[in-house]
Amino acid sequence: MAVGLRIDVDSIADARSLPLVTQILEEIGLKATFFISVGPDKSGRNLPKYMWKPLKEKSLAVKRYGIRNLLLGLTPLPPRIEDINMKFIIKKGHEVGLHGYDHYEWIKRLQYMDWKEIKLRINKGIDIFRKMFGFSPRSFASPGFYITEEYFKALEVFRFNYASDVIGANPHYPMLSDRKFRTLQLPVTIKSIFELRQCGKSDKEILRMFKEKKDNYATFYFHPSYEALFERDILNKILELDLDFITLGEIARDWIEDSPNI
Ligand SMILES: [Zn+2]
Repeated sequence: MAVGLRIDVDSIADARSLPLVTQILEEIGLKATFFISVGPDKSGRNLPKYMWKPLKEKSLAVKRYGIRNLLLGLTPLPPRIEDINMKFIIKKGHEVGLHGYDHYEWIKRLQYMDWKEIKLRINKGIDIFRKMFGFSPRSFASPGFYITEEYFKALEVFRFNYASDVIGANPHYPMLSDRKFRTLQLPVTIKSIFELRQCGKSDKEILRMFKEKKDNYATFYFHPSYEALFERDILNKILELDLDFITLGEIARDWIEDSPNI
């Protein structure tokens, strides 16, 4: 079974772990789709959210973002993710897409933005992405899996090959208020190990989720700064399963070829 392999670069900690994650993929011989958030790293502003959470969740967050990056993100001028290590992704032949401009602000404010404002934010991300990679992004993933009807309206303008904005089941063209949108959605079907750990899942249970997957479509995602550093053993076990891990771009191409009239 083919499984889409998606890796989200949300923060400076993620960008710094890119050489490690590309090395892991190279050792197993896999290509993935990396979604890059190209603006400021405000991950530290998530700290208050963890204040009242159990200690286990707090320590998971510190592991994922790194204490130094969390504190930097709290400053009035948080550092930009910029192009730290981005060359590793392209050099190793992986696919790249845009994961927004300001990850934190998007999650906080998307519900209040109209399609024009959303379009401006996406364009801001496209400009920086183009400077980083020398070409425009051909796919988009909404930060935090946040979506609104206005967002889908804005997305139509860009004619991305596909978007990956939701946790769900199968590829589809979203239908809202009797309007069918023309950007193909490739949902994430298996959450990150970070999120599965938050739900208390063991290695055995996580592996079972992959082994028992029988649908024609699946996509798994993770973040370099957590899974590649702290869950290396289980990550390797997943990536070495007898599954055909491919990029989301390949899934989109195959899906459009197989269902041209949907
Ligand atoms: Zn993200």
